Amino acid sequence: MDQIPQTDPRAGYLEHQADIDGAIARVLAGGQFILGREVEAFEAAFAAWLGVKHGIGVSSGTDALELALRACDIGSGDLVFTVSHTAVATVAAIERAGATAVLIDIEAGGYTMDAAALESALRAPPPGRPVAILPVHLYGEPADMTGILDLARRHGLRVIEDCAQSHGAAYRGQTTGSLGDISCFSFYPTKNLGALGDAGMTATDDADLAAALREIREYGWRQRYISARVGMNTRLASIQAGILAAKLPHLHSDNARRQALAARFDEGLADLPLRLPRCRAGSSHVYHQYVVRTPARDALREHLSGAGIGTGIHYPAPVHLQPAYLGRLAEFPAGLPETTRIAGHIVSLPMYPQLSVAAVDRVISETRRFFK
Ligand SMILES: *Cc1c(COP(=O)(O)O)cnc(C)c1O
Repeated sequence: MDQIPQTDPRAGYLEHQADIDGAIARVLAGGQFILGREVEAFEAAFAAWLGVKHGIGVSSGTDALELALRACDIGSGDLVFTVSHTAVATVAAIERAGATAVLIDIEAGGYTMDAAALESALRAPPPGRPVAILPVHLYGEPADMTGILDLARRHGLRVIEDCAQSHGAAYRGQTTGSLGDISCFSFYPTKNLGALGDAGMTATDDADLAAALREIREYGWRQRYISARVGMNTRLASIQAGILAAKLPHLHSDNARRQALAARFDEGLADLPLRLPRCRAGSSHVYHQYVVRTPARDALREHLSGAGIGTGIHYPAPVHLQPAYLGRLAEFPAGLPETTRIAGHIVSLPMYPQLSVAAVDRVISETRRFFK
């Protein structure tokens, strides 16, 4: 029986092979391999797709986050409020910028920052200067932006959105990535919009922040070879920009396919002792991952694996419990009970636009067989 992988970036390449190969050939013939026309064209197209004024292409999603923090002059002694239930990149970028991550619990029943827990943390913050909130729209579900933006306004904090899993997800009609001061995207090959290598983007409506992002992206240059400020090197490769520009027109329909597959899972799994993904009223979910919860997680994975079905865990340990971070990150105010509780229960089922309905049905029937 055919294997069903959890994700399949190769399928995304094959589906658009002619367009992607054409873009690669064009970049190779053009002879400019870093930044330049291809990058500018993709930056403009992606910013327009998001509905923001400026897009600044970078080398990865991790770099996008570090660059965004630096462009806001965030560094040593500054507190950035984020979550522990995320890709380690979120917290790693805060530390690379020199700032301190303060970890907030996620909402019960969901996977994104709990605004009520954030409010208590802001009432009694750890030592340092609170400067920014960094919510993550994890799995493709927008975080509670009303609560987060309201607290940011009241406390005078920047909001930097981690949109690495939420390309195209909307919160009350507004695209994630157009709500905060700066938004950060990853185009890692398995993301909803994936390059064929590392790539990322920062986006903002603020012209001053856009100028800072552009300068810091390339050595702090305002003028070539003259650093006006301390910068980094996180330029976007032209070939990735060409590939991404070829794939961008399909992002909306790719997301719609993910949503249709998710709806089929929802229906086929509804009566099982599994907690299915939810979506906040007024939001759209783009299902970067389709994550279900059960205390029988490990046995379910083993059963599915035996049936040739791949699954993933995003993520097996919250950041604060990983060896590199254990015991040294600030958790306020009441620890991270929800984050810690769910880590052993979550499992990501197969999900990518080219996944067939027949494959989804096989995952559903094998899951049903497990619970029978
Ligand atoms: C993928 C991801 C990142 C990091 O992006 P890279 O391109 O891999 O550096 C950051 N945050 C989240 C939530 C991610 O899923």
